[in-house]
Amino acid sequence: MTKVLIVDDAAFMRMMIKDILQKNGFEVIGEASNGIEAVNLYKKERPDVVTMDITMPDMDGIEAVKEIRAFDPSAKVIMCSAMGQQSMVMDAIKSGAKDFIVKPFQADRVLEAIRKVVG
Ligand SMILES: [Mg+2]
Repeated sequence: MTKVLIVDDAAFMRMMIKDILQKNGFEVIGEASNGIEAVNLYKKERPDVVTMDITMPDMDGIEAVKEIRAFDPSAKVIMCSAMGQQSMVMDAIKSGAKDFIVKPFQADRVLEAIRKVVG
């Protein structure tokens, strides 16, 4: 089963993604609400995929992608962006993120992005 780590500072957003994933056969192995927690959980749990919010307190998603990719160059991270965050999405892709999904989440798009990066 594909293991996913969900990262977002908004509990509601984490719940939405978790619901989509669990209904479609993915295993959510953890949730983090900032970049620091995300990096620590990644190292501990070694998920197959990470869904990563961009704007978060303490450490944002772009910095977290950099740290995760420094730890594991094969890490697969999908950014979760809001409208108007194109330049931050580009920074994240340059830092090693594989794809991005835009809020509000559409289940089909979330699943497509995850299936594509897992291969
Ligand atoms: Mg946020």
